[in-house]
Formats: sequence, C-alpha cells, structure tokens
Amino acid sequence: MAVRRKHIRAVAERILVSHQIHKAPVPIKEIAQAMGVQVKEAPTEDNLSGFLFRDPQHRQAIIGINKRHHPNRQRFTMAHELGHFLLHEGERIHIDSLAKGFEVNLRDDASSLGIDEDEKEANLFAAEILMPASFLEKDLARLDLLDEDANGEILEPLAKRYRVSVQALTVRLSYLGYVSI
Ligand SMILES: [Zn+2]
Repeated sequence: MAVRRKHIRAVAERILVSHQIHKAPVPIKEIAQAMGVQVKEAPTEDNLSGFLFRDPQHRQAIIGINKRHHPNRQRFTMAHELGHFLLHEGERIHIDSLAKGFEVNLRDDASSLGIDEDEKEANLFAAEILMPASFLEKDLARLDLLDEDANGEILEPLAKRYRVSVQALTVRLSYLGYVSI
C-alpha cells in the first residue's frame, strides 16, 4: 500500500480547521488531548521516542513521550503517535524507538510487512499538522525566504516559529518543493 498523501493532508487540515488553528505553532498536545488522547511525558532511555497505547474496550488511548528529548522532538513524536492513532488501527501498543536513527517499529517480523509505510504515514501526518502547507506558504511569502541561498540563518527563525527542528523544516520544505536538499 502506498503512502496516502492526499488522505493524510485532508485529515490534518480537517483537524486544524475544527480546532480553529490558523497559525504556527500548532498546539499539538492540546489537540491530542481534545481528541480524548491522554498525553504522558516521562524521562526514559534515549533511544525511545514515544509510544501509543490503545485500549479500545475502554475507549482509552495514551501517547507516551520521552521527556528527555528536545521539546521540538517531543512535539514531532507526539504528532507522529497521533498519526498512528488516526491512521492505523488494530495495534494495541506501538513503540517508536530511534535505535536505527529513524523511527522504527518494534513489532515482530511476522507482522513487519507494512511497517515502513506506517512510519512514513505517521511522519507525513506529523509534518502536515505541525507545518501545514498553507501556513508555510503564507509565512514564506511574508518573510521572503525563497531566494536561492536559503540556509540555516533563514530557516532557524521559521523553525522556531513552528517549534520544529531545522532538519524537520528542511525536509518539509523539500517535500513541498521550496528547496532541494
Ligand atoms: Zn511510529
């Protein structure tokens, strides 16, 4: 199954509209909580980013976040887990670790088919909700950031505004076709 790009953007946009969020930074924790998801933050081992726990019988969902990570990283993980919550049904516990330098799903091999797609979708959802294309379009036009030597000096204030890492912002701007990396 291919990554559902249009669907994921539509889901993120619908949430932003229904929560009346029109500018960065997107209050991702408040959004998750408003959707009935509990958010728990605790310090844990470095390679664990976060997890999603679901108990459908009791209609309960919990997102756990590693408080040791940079706040921007925590926001991205929160959005990533919310993406799993909204896009991927059926898993009771989903754990995201940094063991391989990227979000890795710790399910066993028998159920590993589709893992990469799920992770890509959750990451795309996180990017779509934390750095919405329409928000960036407006901000980039205003800040006139589109000259050829867009670099860290220019990206940093924008990343700060969105409360994301410069790296996440760069990947996003590349995905949207603003810069090439
Ligand atoms: Zn994940």
